[in-house]
Amino acid sequence: MPTTLVWFRDDLRLTDNPALTWAAERGDVVGVVVDETTSRPLGRAATWWRDHSIAELSERVPLTRAAGDPREIIPKMASELGAEVVWNRRYHSTEIDAAVKDACGARSFPGFLLTEPWEMRTGSGMPYRVFTPFYKAVQAHLAAHPPSVLPAPALEGQSRIDVPTYPAWADTLAEHNTPGELAALDRFHAFLDGLADGAHYSNNDLTPGATSGLSAHLRFGELSPGYVWAETVALAEAHPAAAADAYAFLRQLVWRDFAWHRFYHLPDLHLHNVRSQFDAFDWAWSEHADPMAHPYAFARPEMDGTAEHLGQLAAWQRGETGIPLVDAGMRELWLTGTMHNRVRMVVGSWLTKNLGIHWRHGEEWFWDTLVDADVASNPFNWQWVAGSGDDAAPYFRIFNPITQQEKFDPLGKYVTKWRPAALLPGYPEPMVDVKESRKVALAAYEDIKGVSGPQVG
Ligand SMILES: Cc1cc2nc3c(=O)[nH]c(=O)nc-3n(C[C@H](O)[C@H](O)[C@H](O)COP(=O)(O)OP(=O)(O)OC[C@H]3O[C@@H](n4cnc5c(N)ncnc54)[C@H](O)[C@@H]3O)c2cc1C
Repeated sequence: MPTTLVWFRDDLRLTDNPALTWAAERGDVVGVVVDETTSRPLGRAATWWRDHSIAELSERVPLTRAAGDPREIIPKMASELGAEVVWNRRYHSTEIDAAVKDACGARSFPGFLLTEPWEMRTGSGMPYRVFTPFYKAVQAHLAAHPPSVLPAPALEGQSRIDVPTYPAWADTLAEHNTPGELAALDRFHAFLDGLADGAHYSNNDLTPGATSGLSAHLRFGELSPGYVWAETVALAEAHPAAAADAYAFLRQLVWRDFAWHRFYHLPDLHLHNVRSQFDAFDWAWSEHADPMAHPYAFARPEMDGTAEHLGQLAAWQRGETGIPLVDAGMRELWLTGTMHNRVRMVVGSWLTKNLGIHWRHGEEWFWDTLVDADVASNPFNWQWVAGSGDDAAPYFRIFNPITQQEKFDPLGKYVTKWRPAALLPGYPEPMVDVKESRKVALAAYEDIKGVSGPQVG
């Protein structure tokens, strides 16, 4: 029987895994995951998720774990096993994959996105930079080429890769999250069952369960987006009353493709403004506040002399800004490794617009603390919030966190859950005045409008 080496990356699943199915149909399967040193090491919360997901996968797939450079590890393993190499494509670190392919002739499959970045082009042959036409084009593409779902192959052997010991901060992550394909499938099907039974999907509803909660599962490929698409479309067809909510959910899933397509064309999305005019914007920035460079540290003002913004950044990170919705969101993030999308936008707007702090500081903090942090969606959304990205929130859209709370958390349930003190008398006042800081931000964004510059992309 020929042996195939399956290099698992962000596809930690059996169902609808094209590379794995191809390998299983061919003969014996040996799986490998590699802890790589990439230009952007995973943040700590995402590392926690990945470790648990790998452990879960190893109970169902013969899997080895290696650490180092895949350009050495994969060809060496392939030659020792006399195996062909396969994987599902990724859209970062592509130079590494190209080198492995050169060395041992690997076969690659799609499976991480609904559409390949090179498949979607505007009428003039350019990548899309605006979401709505992109969404329509993806819908048309998937109507013409509906995703076909591959069942999980039957595999023999398991391996039991254990999870390393984590510091205490990970305990609360474990209370709120169950990584792995089995949990992903359960969660997705519970979500679909809910829609079929009349529950509503709304990404403006802060109640737990109003959205799918699938982002980290999708991030690590425990679910394939094609599978999510196909099952959700089938549900909409079987339950017409649920169709509007089902398609609203799928529209969000297409944002994920959009972020990844933009990243594919702009691989330094987390470092540079997409719209280069914003290079002239006077955001507060400090090299010393990078949480990855200072493990387990919040920003510390003493690292940068008397920089006021570092104190503000630390208060934002800790959920101590004096703004109840922002503080609740930042506590939710710290405790659970996730945060509702609406609140992500509000905390992002507060940091970049009212506090005038560079979006990169927010992006880095999210990178380290989100279990769903990824190299495309995170910087893409931060640039969207800050106004420097593609199809971004317009410069004049500065969320008022007080009215956002009145609108989206009118009974204070969300804030009560994550920052109960914020609704009690004696809670600290906001660190900057909401209206005054909005005026200052508007003036700064007005200035940038006058700066002309080529748009990157
Ligand atoms: C500042 C900021 C940073 C973000 N960083 C990330 C990140 O690192 N990783 C990440 O997966 N999402 C990120 N998001 C997007 C979004 O907040 C999360 O995907 C969402 O909260 C996940 O909840 P859900 O799974 O219940 O989503 P649902 O509403 O159920 O949506 C279904 C799926 O669609 C995708 N999706 C939804 N909204 C977006 C979006 N705006 N951009 C890209 N994909 C989306 C996710 O995969 C999600 O699981 C960020 C948003 C903001 C505003």
